[in-house]
Amino acid sequence: MGDVDGARVLVVEDDAALRDVIARGLRQAGFDVVTAGDGSGALRAAGAGAGAGFSAVVLDIGLPDSDGRDVCQALRARGIDVPVLFLTARDQLHDVLSAFAAGGDDHLAKPFHVSELLARLGAMIRRGAPRAAVADTALRLDPADHALAGPAGRQPLTPTEYRLLAALMAASGQVVRRRTLVAAGWPHGALVAENTLDQYVARLRRKLAAAGDDERAIATVHGVGYRFA
Ligand code: CA
Repeated sequence: MGDVDGARVLVVEDDAALRDVIARGLRQAGFDVVTAGDGSGALRAAGAGAGAGFSAVVLDIGLPDSDGRDVCQALRARGIDVPVLFLTARDQLHDVLSAFAAGGDDHLAKPFHVSELLARLGAMIRRGAPRAAVADTALRLDPADHALAGPAGRQPLTPTEYRLLAALMAASGQVVRRRTLVAAGWPHGALVAENTLDQYVARLRRKLAAAGDDERAIATVHGVGYRFA
């Protein structure tokens, strides 16, 4: 796997023994590894954004301070567009589907063999995951308490508001279809009335304004969806 030599990988896992096994396996395979034990640590390691230079992220879904899917969305909203491989405790379909809706590229159910993790990680990095550039914004999403932080302060978000805003921010400048937003914001299979999504977006607009970034807004694209720009 010469083409992944020296590639920098962020490993986020709260089980210290498993984290060590993964880190050791990746280092032996030539990866440069940075570890974190929770979502806050992951976001600190990622720093301001794309500049942290990671080639991929291995991200446990069950973290002590946050849901790994929300951490992934926070990374995406900061413009970190590298492949993300989720680790799931249970091989449950709804977890896997919502992991993809949250911006994940692959997943691996525990227990797994490190050689399988290495194979998938190498394939993900070689394949790459080009995404749209994210607009530079002073807004930050905090997955630990589902908050939006901006120049004028913090705004609490519900988990659904958080996931909708993260999906919009991660695709900033582009139209996000209504069904994509529903898949990001609600559990798989949830029946969401047409105007429910609009009510959520109306609340998000108020919270964006209160967080103090007047430059950014959610535009309605009639009959299609919404665009954060
Ligand atoms: Ca865990």
